[in-house]
Amino acid sequence: MAWYPGATRYELQPESDDQPAIRPTQFIYHSIAAPWTAKRTYEYWRDSTNLESHFGLGYEGDLAQFIGTETRADANYLANLRDDGTGAISLESASNLEHTDPWTAEQIPKLIDVGVWAHKTHGIPLRICRSWTDPGFGYHRLHPEWAKGGTGCPGDARVRQFREVVFPGIVARAAGPFTPPEQEDDMDPVDVWAYKGTGETRDAYWYQRDTNTLARQARDETRALAARVAALETTGLTPAQAEQIAELVADKLAARLTD
Ligand SMILES: [Zn+2]
Repeated sequence: MAWYPGATRYELQPESDDQPAIRPTQFIYHSIAAPWTAKRTYEYWRDSTNLESHFGLGYEGDLAQFIGTETRADANYLANLRDDGTGAISLESASNLEHTDPWTAEQIPKLIDVGVWAHKTHGIPLRICRSWTDPGFGYHRLHPEWAKGGTGCPGDARVRQFREVVFPGIVARAAGPFTPPEQEDDMDPVDVWAYKGTGETRDAYWYQRDTNTLARQARDETRALAARVAALETTGLTPAQAEQIAELVADKLAARLTD
């Protein structure tokens, strides 16, 4: 049993204990065709039917989980539990009665967050399911085997959002793009400190810049000296003399790099 820490836990019993285990390989988004809070969705599953989804999401971004993601839920027809033990996680989201409205600005980030969690927790791959059994992410109407008798769920507007915002958001977040840390107003953009009482200031990148400069100088000197050695080879220098020069060069370079 796995419970998403970003959701309020409203556990449905006896389903949570009684229903068979699944190995979740898919995550499927739905619209519930009712403008319900997550709690109201829980009450509907608890009081009015023995069906359920794993998650419920209200218009305000209130997210609840009703059953562990390694237990079968009912919202995805043949994908709930397949013969090989795999199954789909389901999320129902508040919508208008015809499920024609888009997900709200409060719902979208929650849809992404829980998708990233499912990827990290269950290894659900970052692709849109290519068949009804193919591991990945999808929305209810994507494959007919996911809906008995067919469905338009979650509606055109949300299918577009899934493809343009939600799924790309999951991929971007799961890949861990660089996010600059929040800056406090009174902080300098980078750490800057006074250097050895010289009156100069140095920042966190100073050592990197300085090392790059030294490395470039050393490269240029090495090239110049190699040219001189090549020239000396034609003047009849003995091996001992050449070795002496090489040692002097090495000492000089080492001194520069450790200054
Ligand atoms: Zn649905």
